[in-house]
Amino acid sequence: MLDLITREQWQGRRPREVTRLTVAPDGVKVHYLAGTVSPELVHDHRLCVDLVQEVQGWHMDGRGWNDTGYTALVCPHRAVFEARGPWVLPSANGSGLNAGHYALACLLGEHGLVTPPQGMLDGLADGIRWLRAEGGAGRDILGHRDGYATECPGDPLYRVVKRWQREGLPPAGPVRVPPFARILKYPPLMTGDDVRTWQQQMRRRGWAIGVDGKFGPASKAVAAAFAKEKKIVSISGQVNKAVWDAAWLAPIT
Ligand SMILES: [Zn+2]
Ligand SMILES: [Zn+2]
Repeated sequence: MLDLITREQWQGRRPREVTRLTVAPDGVKVHYLAGTVSPELVHDHRLCVDLVQEVQGWHMDGRGWNDTGYTALVCPHRAVFEARGPWVLPSANGSGLNAGHYALACLLGEHGLVTPPQGMLDGLADGIRWLRAEGGAGRDILGHRDGYATECPGDPLYRVVKRWQREGLPPAGPVRVPPFARILKYPPLMTGDDVRTWQQQMRRRGWAIGVDGKFGPASKAVAAAFAKEKKIVSISGQVNKAVWDAAWLAPIT
């Protein structure tokens, strides 16, 4: 299931200029970020958001592009960060190669995080399906190095790209809900990794919530508002199993 994070949600800057595509691209080209990507990313989705913002800065201020060069970026948590989006010309594929394919980047480097975690591959497949459905993308699944002199997207990811190009995309698997350990409530203050996991997911859904692993009054308020919005039966402000599961399974509205 596609977990799309819009530019507004990741607090991206507005593009200086947008060039619309008038002809549907043949497919997608897959990229990595090169350089070093911290392996800590895997444990903290906030770092993904920071990195997506940084990439936009490198591209707009460093390279002087109108926007992030990519169509979208994919993180280890199966999230797809919308950058230029469907039906907009990317700039990351290289001169003369941008109208032919959308540009999808994985938050991977040459050092640090170099092997795509499963969540990233699921997100990449979601992103490709999204661009086929919403952007008219054709069947091509290629790497940046196809037709351009670069190592991008790195050997581990390129092997996956080659396999998908040959065999087609893997089926869209269900979203994996992290195990529910206990009812979260306040008071007294509960702390733990499960609290952090839930807070992180609520933040991804667009709620203004701190990710500190402490279930206090602010978390309680978000839990109450979310359960009410989704019409889930729970004691107000408590995260029971139904409220927990809905954080991953309910559509984001
Ligand atoms: Zn590239
Ligand atoms: Zn992430």
